[in-house]
Amino acid sequence: MTGMPIFNGHGAERPPLTIYLAAPRGFCAGVDRAIQIVELALAKFGAPVYVRHEIVHNRYVVEGLTAKGAIFVEELDEIPDTGAPVIFSAHGVPKAVPAAASLRRMFYLDATCPLVSKVHVEAERHYEQGREILLIGHAGHPEVVGTTGQLPEGSVHLIETAEDAARFSPRNPERLAYITQTTLSVDDTKDIVTVLRQRFPAMVGPHKDDICYATTNRQDAVKKIAPACERVIVVGSPNSSNSLRLVEVAERAGCPRAMLVGRASDIDWNAFTNIRSLGITAGASAPEILVDEIIDAFKVRFDAKVEIVTTASEDIAFKLPRELREAPAA
Ligand code: SF4
Repeated sequence: MTGMPIFNGHGAERPPLTIYLAAPRGFCAGVDRAIQIVELALAKFGAPVYVRHEIVHNRYVVEGLTAKGAIFVEELDEIPDTGAPVIFSAHGVPKAVPAAASLRRMFYLDATCPLVSKVHVEAERHYEQGREILLIGHAGHPEVVGTTGQLPEGSVHLIETAEDAARFSPRNPERLAYITQTTLSVDDTKDIVTVLRQRFPAMVGPHKDDICYATTNRQDAVKKIAPACERVIVVGSPNSSNSLRLVEVAERAGCPRAMLVGRASDIDWNAFTNIRSLGITAGASAPEILVDEIIDAFKVRFDAKVEIVTTASEDIAFKLPRELREAPAA
């Protein structure tokens, strides 16, 4: 068949397309654990289980778990008095949330990613040592709300940009520490930390930042494919911080246009006319099935070949909460 034109289902010729598929992409260990917690709680205790906030920021995942009997709420006061499990999302919660749950004698399971909990512990340690704390992150993101809420109000100051870092005036520059959100842009965070370190040489903090391995690896992988791609699709939801960062990183690394796509039916095909190269990656909360669906949709319209570009391998897994480690009741 070599040299013969290839047609799509509508009789039109399918143009050639190389799809560069970034690896690693998609689910990280924290997301995998959080989803397992909801699924195992449903299997062990039966429906309903209540989940405070989207367990991970992906609509497909949330709809799938809702269909199995999970009920998603934003605050505990939306939950009736119940013996059903209440699960806290992977992003972490302010200390006031488990305190309120205990007061109401709720049976709660914490799906906070252990790498977010690690930042909570850092924040507490700095506070105990009498330091003023800067949190580099995005206002309003649930992880930032959760981390800030580990300590009394006013102990943590949010720094969103290098300009914020240049303007901040501490109580005492000798007693300053910083921590970061786990899903930030590695490069932007480096710039912010550089400004802070120049201004406050005595400031303490992590070696570089608290950005997690999954965020770092996905950004490295998209950086590698972006210069060769006329378009990059990041599979993910608009409220997923690490997915939004992948769009920015792809464009800065040389792709003329990167975009977030929830699933195949959301694709604006006008954005892909006359292209020969496409990059695909997925945020840490996006399931692989959505990536497959998008590749299949391109294969209908293009004579597409897929090249996987791997920049790291991942074999991290986190332990489940003790209550779920035993097998579900028969
Ligand atoms: Fe944990 Fe990182 Fe995944 Fe967030 S993106 S859940 S911090 S591993």
